[in-house]
Amino acid sequence: MKNNNKNINTNFIYKIIEKDMFKNNSLNVKTRFPPEPNGHLHIGHAKSIFINFNISKKYSGKCNLRFDDTNPLKEKKKYINSIKKDIKWLGFKYSKNIKYASNYFEIFYKYAMILIKKGLAYIDKLNKKEIKKYRGNLTKKGKNSPFRNRKIKKNINLFKKMKNGYFEDGSMCLRAKINMKSKIIIMRDPVLYRIIKTKKHHQTKKKWCIYPTYDFAHCISDYIEKITHSICTTEFTDNKILYNWILKNIEVKNKPKQYEFARLNIENNILSKRKIQILIKNNIIKNWSDPRLLTISGLRKRGYTPVSIMNFCNYIGITKKENFIQMSYLEHFIKKDLENKVKRAMAVLNPIKVIIYNLPKNYKKIIKIPNHPKIKKFGTQKIILRKKIYIEKKDFEETSKNKKKLFINGKVKLRYSYFIKAKKIKKNKLNKIEKIYCKYYKKITNKKNKKKKKIAIIHWISIKDSIKTKFKIYKNLFKTKYPEKKKNMIQYIDKNSKKVKIGFSQKDILSKILKNYIQFERIGYFMLNNLKKHKNITFTCITKLKK
Ligand code: ATP
Ligand code: MG
Repeated sequence: MKNNNKNINTNFIYKIIEKDMFKNNSLNVKTRFPPEPNGHLHIGHAKSIFINFNISKKYSGKCNLRFDDTNPLKEKKKYINSIKKDIKWLGFKYSKNIKYASNYFEIFYKYAMILIKKGLAYIDKLNKKEIKKYRGNLTKKGKNSPFRNRKIKKNINLFKKMKNGYFEDGSMCLRAKINMKSKIIIMRDPVLYRIIKTKKHHQTKKKWCIYPTYDFAHCISDYIEKITHSICTTEFTDNKILYNWILKNIEVKNKPKQYEFARLNIENNILSKRKIQILIKNNIIKNWSDPRLLTISGLRKRGYTPVSIMNFCNYIGITKKENFIQMSYLEHFIKKDLENKVKRAMAVLNPIKVIIYNLPKNYKKIIKIPNHPKIKKFGTQKIILRKKIYIEKKDFEETSKNKKKLFINGKVKLRYSYFIKAKKIKKNKLNKIEKIYCKYYKKITNKKNKKKKKIAIIHWISIKDSIKTKFKIYKNLFKTKYPEKKKNMIQYIDKNSKKVKIGFSQKDILSKILKNYIQFERIGYFMLNNLKKHKNITFTCITKLKK
């Protein structure tokens, strides 16, 4: 893999922080990770966690975990718990003093009142649809709401009444009075507060029926918590203008500053929580921890380790330019993490029988092999060669010129054992190959062989020493590289992205497992599933060794 010079030690945010620290040597660097508890975390969030928590570590600062909980319609307590669990699993420690935007509802209300009193905010009676229409778009300027010039006194009264529950959801809202003709659409009188009576808040229960918008709550939360560097993704670049406008007009000192980095996108996958919800609703996946999803819980279920995810985040670095990362990068880091941590064993996923006819009926040859080619301390194991073995279906082709395969009159080497040559096959009524009859050779010594130096080595398992095993094999959920960009992403779901194969592994496989992991030779890395939950021994394929 190429060396990446954009890694965590040289990124632009570190440069900004170091400059700020140079200017002010008593600066206490403080960041925050602000998830909205409206879903589970995904690998994009892992990147944000990685950035924010590592900044605080590097500069002896602090990083707050703050739940951005300003929309009870979408948020749930169960998401708060899962977010906490996932952050811990990733290996980050957040302070016990977890923050909630809802802790500051009283303060937000006070600042909203200040803006109203300054004539910088008003109560609007246009409904959501009308507000959208009046706002215009990139080519069409916005139009003032007929309620924009309401008297300050009246606005104060209405806002108080809004707070006290006099009005129904959607009947009115508080808007900043900025500029309906601004080139930046966000500045066209953004909504600051809306009424939500229909749903109880998971933290404040029924205390409030008006809730600040993200834009109003976020900058003030950052200010309250003395965040020095508020780091978010580039889609909030325009929101920064509003962020600064609010902080300027509520007249606070020591304002936090927002910096943006490019969000993480991964090819053939979606990350957005909203889109994951759509997949669940449409029964494409059952839940957030489907092993094909790049949610933290999905990755965990697939067998990814926190180290592999963190090394991936470090590798991709922090940039401003948005791009799509190939899945193979993530796969590279799990392979790298497991490479020297797990033992190796044999399994055959799609078995086909091989009869080595020139071996005696009860032939049994014990072969001592290392559990890992490089790690001596993993010790050795014994495998047994017998007359009847399984090999992988795809390692055989009846007629083939592919030297990597076994074919009639072609030779391959059985890993750690003899060479075999296929002589004939037996097919069943459906014309499917049932058995391959092979002849074994201890050595291939003839001269011809020198030319054929690269004889293929295939894995195998003696039928008698194998145990029925279930293998769950996953592929990317989407056939298209950029599903997030598609209007109807469901159309691009790969229906074969989940497969269960019944094959065989070594009878003694369980004794080879280290911390649930194993590498099946020539196939990939696998994670053992909970033994109590499955009838057969079951493994999840984390990643194949080769594409
Ligand atoms: P989604 O689009 O998945 O719903 P979100 O931005 O709405 O994500 P939040 O809970 O608001 O999710 O995000 C918490 C933090 O994680 C934010 O600072 C956000 O910028 C960051 N974040 C979210 N998605 C990504 C991503 N794909 N790459 C990097 N950071 C992300
Ligand atoms: Mg969000």
